[in-house]
Amino acid sequence: MKKSLAAVFCGIVGLGLQQAQAQKCGTDLITEKLIAQRPEAKEAFLRYQEEVRERAEKFEAQMANSSNKTTGKYTVPLVFHVILRQSQIDSIGGIQGIYNRIASQVAVLNTDFNAENADSSTIPAVFKPLFGKADISFGVAHKKPDGTATTGVEIKVAGSNYNGYDFGSAFLVSTAGGGLDAWDNKKYLNIWITDITNGNQPGQILGYAISPSFGKNVLQNEQAIGVVIDFLAFGKRNPSSIQIFTPKADNGRTMVHEIGHFFTLNHIWGNTAVGSGVCSDDDGVADTPPQQDANQSTCPTYPKANCTNSPGGEMFMNFMDYVHDDCMRMFTKGQVARMQSEFTPTGGSYQLQFNVAAMSYPTDVTSLESENTFDLVPNPTSGVFTVSFSDVNTKLKGISVVNMVGQTIKQITSGLQNQGFSVDLTGMQKGIYMVQCHFETGTVTRKIVLQ
Ligand SMILES: [Zn+2]
Repeated sequence: MKKSLAAVFCGIVGLGLQQAQAQKCGTDLITEKLIAQRPEAKEAFLRYQEEVRERAEKFEAQMANSSNKTTGKYTVPLVFHVILRQSQIDSIGGIQGIYNRIASQVAVLNTDFNAENADSSTIPAVFKPLFGKADISFGVAHKKPDGTATTGVEIKVAGSNYNGYDFGSAFLVSTAGGGLDAWDNKKYLNIWITDITNGNQPGQILGYAISPSFGKNVLQNEQAIGVVIDFLAFGKRNPSSIQIFTPKADNGRTMVHEIGHFFTLNHIWGNTAVGSGVCSDDDGVADTPPQQDANQSTCPTYPKANCTNSPGGEMFMNFMDYVHDDCMRMFTKGQVARMQSEFTPTGGSYQLQFNVAAMSYPTDVTSLESENTFDLVPNPTSGVFTVSFSDVNTKLKGISVVNMVGQTIKQITSGLQNQGFSVDLTGMQKGIYMVQCHFETGTVTRKIVLQ
């Protein structure tokens, strides 16, 4: 549904008037907090909304004219910055558990942003013609901004005194502050995975997103551009691995929703705080039906009547509602146009599509290394470190740790299921050691510093 700027304005005025309720997503709360601190940001926010809507409408008009039609497919490199306590890392299957969840998460993104999700078969008939295919694909980066090889995953083991990320605070996006710096956000979509807390407010924030133009023009903090996800709402449940998830947030769709925000989508009911919804607020997209409020942590029975009793009622199965992961099914064509228009020259994500090469390893990295990637975390270590594999399918035969004079001091040859191995060098002489992973196709070596 799409309404005038005045209606959107009313929605924003509504922000902050009501005590924050339990929230699934913190994207609107960021705006609410910002306007509370800096009232002039409201104008910048409304201008941002208007610019996004105009760009999307122009793009839609252009696409409607067949001679201007592009066959746009967009590919976006992702980098994951993980900041968790060791006990939290262990609770989701260790370093290997993180890699497994990342692989499952990227698969979900590629499915849902290409309208290939099997559960789309249950989209109600009245909404089927609106089902949109965003044609956006994602891959983990394998080149850093400086061109060197990377698994695309940075893991910082926080101290045992780390009490989580107080939602919206700045440290997460700063290595100096204790988090991890963003990589060039014109070339990578930065995703931070951590334990999100919400101060003393009730409810659990599972994630939020800062779109490029919101970060630049409204928040005025470009370092924060990207997506933040709680570590228990990230990835897709896999029956063969550790299964701790926030209930009903186990199908990877928190990130689908947040990346929707990253590409400038609003919540389907508009920008009004959850629990105070008004029918006059909307999401700025023409083909989403009007909806008064969030369907929070539920899966309504279809059909659920909406503000205007339009056919089909509320489109609660939209990725931009708050329903359970396994209740979500679709973006609309209007939402897709809005996201795709972000890739046009004036859009905030325009440059993201031109860094496809970052998803391949540098040419000086042998296929043996690129096909058998592993990481040592933490490095430097004070004793215990984990050897973890970015591909669970690599065929591992053994792991050796060798000192600088060539003596093998540790050897692991059994239980090699690529689940991640803990190696303990406690008590050994401080210095550099070589960790050799012996794969079926050869041996790859990494240095570890014991300090
Ligand atoms: Zn949201």
